[in-house]
Amino acid sequence: VHHQTKPHIVMVPTPGMGHLIPLTELAKRLVRDHNFSVSFLIPSDGSPSIAIKSVLDELPETITYTFLSPVNFDDQPEDVDIETIISLTIFRSLSYLREELKRITSSKHVVALVVDLFGTDAFDVAKEFGIPPYIFFLCNANVLQLLFHLSSLHESYSGEFKDLPQPLCLPGCVPFPGPDILAPLQDKKSGGYKWFLHHSRRYRLAEGILVNTFIDLEPNVLKVLMTEQLGIPPIYPVGPVTKSSSSNMPVNDGAGCLKWLNDQPPESVLFVSFGSGGNLPCEQLIELAYGLEMSEQKFIWVVKSPSETVNASFFEHTSKDPFDFLPDGFVDRISSSGLLVPSWAPQIQILSHGSTGGFLSHCGWNSTLESIVCGIPMITWPLFAEQRMNTVMLVEDAGVGVRPKPNENGLIVREEISRVVKMLMGAGEGKSLRSKMRELKDGASRVLSENGSSSISLLDVVNKWKNPAC
Ligand code: UDP
Repeated sequence: VHHQTKPHIVMVPTPGMGHLIPLTELAKRLVRDHNFSVSFLIPSDGSPSIAIKSVLDELPETITYTFLSPVNFDDQPEDVDIETIISLTIFRSLSYLREELKRITSSKHVVALVVDLFGTDAFDVAKEFGIPPYIFFLCNANVLQLLFHLSSLHESYSGEFKDLPQPLCLPGCVPFPGPDILAPLQDKKSGGYKWFLHHSRRYRLAEGILVNTFIDLEPNVLKVLMTEQLGIPPIYPVGPVTKSSSSNMPVNDGAGCLKWLNDQPPESVLFVSFGSGGNLPCEQLIELAYGLEMSEQKFIWVVKSPSETVNASFFEHTSKDPFDFLPDGFVDRISSSGLLVPSWAPQIQILSHGSTGGFLSHCGWNSTLESIVCGIPMITWPLFAEQRMNTVMLVEDAGVGVRPKPNENGLIVREEISRVVKMLMGAGEGKSLRSKMRELKDGASRVLSENGSSSISLLDVVNKWKNPAC
């Protein structure tokens, strides 16, 4: 068999932009700094979105990708949860994955198979080919620690997490109030809970787990996880792995955000976005519109059509015009202070623009890391997945964000929104949040520098991949 000289890595992302983006960014680092070649094998249930294609088409030529044959979900109920769909997408793709691995291993020297947090069912196929399986864990280390404890929590506590009398205290972790624990774990009968239990038990089968975080951000829990514990694979904090704002590729900015920002004063603009999958219910969307208007601050808002399902846009984008749902006359009234963008904006370029001074975010982990890398303090507005845990860390632990309080009906009213926006963008408390976020930003750039802890962690994995016997 002819083996190319470059060691090769196969990456298998599960569906979702928040999974694909950090995996491709990790791949770029491995190719650029460590002389690997990488191929993506992508399971899916249909044709990829434009956003996914644009990420893949920007990859350098040492990174290739293949879509596996689509899988079918006709047997699933309409209200099936997202974790089930994501996990089944991989599970039902295993035979296609096997075919592709057969093809790739015939010409390339594959040294590792890397999956994300939902991809553990691919381990068995990797092992058939003698390829060591690794996880790139795309959430933070507090969440990873929770998942390592999930199986024993499952055995020892039969109630629901939301009913915990005290916040959950795990070794090295920030104390998490029951209702803030990972959303899919809140209902033990749900498919999401069962899949997390399944995957978290299988995490121990990985040869190693790379985590998208860094020491300065979570020193305590990383210390616990990195001192050898029985049955836990080696943990490598390699983050923040985020998109770079300075690529040579043209930026997809149909709404002209960057040009608009050029005309605004430094740090004067609040960026408002709920990630690729987040949606607000109609009443909440309207309240947010009034709240932004009342705050009299400048803003860019990525508006998506409302939905009662918080993660409705994760896979599908409706064709409805999101602006139709805004209050009457709103678009005209805010035209000199705000810019409205339908559905998708060049987030990392916006966050790294000097006119941006705050980020109202759903606290997806990628968005959180991007905000840290750019030193932008946050208004935290968690919706689903592990976003409430991220919020607790940002607000209670790191002190770089403010969390608006909902009223007794769960609605965040306009007065509250206006209050936190003014606070974040203003000179008082906002200033302290900003300076703490700057410290984190400096930490993030230090750990990624040549002798920084995340660079060294990545080098440890790289050496293991290049010299498996060591
Ligand atoms: N993103 C973007 N423009 C948008 C929305 C999202 O570029 O309008 C990017 C964002 O920069 C981040 C990713 O998509 O890299 C979203 O990941 P995150 O983990 O924050 O949230 P998710 O979309 O998975 O809920």
